Amino acid sequence: MSSNHSVAFVQGGYHGIGKATVEALHHAGIAVAFTYQKSKEQADAMVHALQKPDQPVSILVIQADSADEQALQVAIQKTVKAFGHINFVINNAGYLAVSTIDKIDTVEFDKTIAINVRSLMITSREALPYMPNGGRIINIGSVNSERIPFEGGAIYGMSKAAVVGLTKGMARDLAPRQITVNNIQPGPINTDMNPDTGDFADALKQFLPIGRYEKAEEIASLVMWLISPEAGYMTGSSLNMDGGFTI
Ligand code: NDP
Repeated sequence: MSSNHSVAFVQGGYHGIGKATVEALHHAGIAVAFTYQKSKEQADAMVHALQKPDQPVSILVIQADSADEQALQVAIQKTVKAFGHINFVINNAGYLAVSTIDKIDTVEFDKTIAINVRSLMITSREALPYMPNGGRIINIGSVNSERIPFEGGAIYGMSKAAVVGLTKGMARDLAPRQITVNNIQPGPINTDMNPDTGDFADALKQFLPIGRYEKAEEIASLVMWLISPEAGYMTGSSLNMDGGFTI
């Protein structure tokens, strides 16, 4: 693959926001490596549906648990081996543990931090030696960093609030290289993590002036704008795309 070909690494990419993002990147002609944790079958099916057999390989699927530092390091190395460099890192994998403070399990607390915060740092750090100047890092946080209108969201909200600070610090560190770092904060999106028919749905809809759940494709479109040359001046920002959830 030529050195001027754009390459994206998506952490957590075979359903929900990750899938919509991988598809948008692929349709824009960008080579994409994405990780999954659980279902090889589903991940392979997605690649099969997108990758044309008569074209050079432009999608790479890698099994990696985002809580496992070594697995993430290997995933970045596999991406570089296949495509040569990485222009865009999209840190999407996320874990939702719901428990009120009187019952929070320490293992769940640590797992939430490992997946929702530490993995963003690891993939970014490991990719940086292979990122040309002008690259992009996009973290997928949540509006729950600033508003938790349901019980049991303490550790999830805490982890997403940590992403706000991490994003700011990373953006400052990488600005001299013109690498921007931003944090997209979606509102309620109809995905496996938060189905619009799930336990939270009725409660959450009353906080949505727009009157409906968000679509994963709407977040993917913001990712595509953030990787565009026009977005080069936006860095360190946390961008709410939430149907008015935080108004
Ligand atoms: P989904 O449940 O549809 O997808 C979650 C993704 O994260 C999957 O690709 C999943 O892969 C991956 N993932 C979870 N744990 C791990 C792990 N340990 N290792 C590797 N991958 C993992 O959820 P969404 O698309 O909704 O979530 C995407 C991001 O958006 C998350 O960061 C979430 O916190 C955030 N978000 C979601 C909102 C919503 O309402 N849905 C609202 C605001 C933010 P696998 O199945 O293989 O584990």
